Amino acid sequence: MLSCRHLIGQLRYASNNSVRSITAKILDQRYIELRPANDERPLKFPSIWLRDNCQCSECFHGATRARKSHWERGPLSHAAAQAVHFDEHRQQLVINWQDAHNSSYDLEWLQQRDFSPEARQRYLSEVYKPTMQLWGKSQFGEVTREFHYADVMAQDAVLCAWLEALAVQGFALLREAPNDVQVARQLAERIGYIKRTTYGDVFEVKSKPNAGNYAYLMTPLPMHTDMPYYEYKAGINILHTLVQSESPGGANTMTDGFFVAQRLREEFPKYYDLLRSVPVNWYDIGHDGDAGKPFHSLWRGPVICLDVDGQFARINQNTTKRDSRFTVPLELVVDWYEAYDKFLQLVQEESVQFKTRAGDVFVFNNLRMLHGRTAYEDSPQNKRHLVGAYVDWDIIYSKLRTLMFPNAKD
Ligand SMILES: [Zn+2]
Repeated sequence: MLSCRHLIGQLRYASNNSVRSITAKILDQRYIELRPANDERPLKFPSIWLRDNCQCSECFHGATRARKSHWERGPLSHAAAQAVHFDEHRQQLVINWQDAHNSSYDLEWLQQRDFSPEARQRYLSEVYKPTMQLWGKSQFGEVTREFHYADVMAQDAVLCAWLEALAVQGFALLREAPNDVQVARQLAERIGYIKRTTYGDVFEVKSKPNAGNYAYLMTPLPMHTDMPYYEYKAGINILHTLVQSESPGGANTMTDGFFVAQRLREEFPKYYDLLRSVPVNWYDIGHDGDAGKPFHSLWRGPVICLDVDGQFARINQNTTKRDSRFTVPLELVVDWYEAYDKFLQLVQEESVQFKTRAGDVFVFNNLRMLHGRTAYEDSPQNKRHLVGAYVDWDIIYSKLRTLMFPNAKD
């Protein structure tokens, strides 16, 4: 699976229109309708939106794709359309406004901004964010995507397919990376740039005596997401295995947290409501990073976070970083624990286990995937050694769009 959907994306983005015969008309002074001569669905746009998005050089600065301020000219709602027509030769909607301004809009530009539910959904799933494929334990085999490190570094199409897998399946494995501590950094820089945290820009995961962080112990690392105590939580975690433990342990564990959230919503709606609404205090206090400076991180958020469209956006779970200060009304606490227990039980039920080899880079969505590690044992000859780096989703989605839509102009 080394292809990328970018060709489909480009075709849809630049849909080519033959000349169309269309009638334009004003409806109720508030909308403008474009009705094709054949039986195709009419396009309907609010007049105020058209006026706001006039593309003439007085209203719009093309070079920066920026709307020029209109507020000093008065509220847009006062600018009603006086006359409209469709120019078939130019394939443009032409509007004469009551304030004597004139606007024209290319049909293709209007079609790309169609307000119909289907068109909006298509834009959200193709340009905004690819639709996620949530998966349970039994589907692990079919959702696993593997790529060669060298191909990701050298070929844009493979980079695109890798980023798409991270967005859709939530994780991917890169194989045959060199034995070099710079690999995690190079991958982050291939996408954009590293997210620096209190642990530095790249971080080493090795067992350490007197470790300040639970991740640096050889005991089992319970399922968690990194940094629930950050408002700006790291988007993906890039974990490069340089040396794997020869002991039976040291395997990665992983669960799709959004799949578990979906199961809760369907099977235990009361628990789901509690876990998406009751805020939990997540915290981290200590010293780490290059300078060993002290930090005191604290963020309050529910276990299941939704975005503005009601989609799963972020899972917060880290038993070791959950504050004993639980600043919610007393009567919520007992019910919350019941819901939380069910959540953790489902996380366990749906968890998969695999052990990376030296040269593997395991990359996953840290907003979605709970992950952990089984216990292991270092010996003087064999010390498990990983190097990690984080990248934010803003940077990944931006890169993905530039790869999928290299010709996007607006
Ligand atoms: Zn204008």
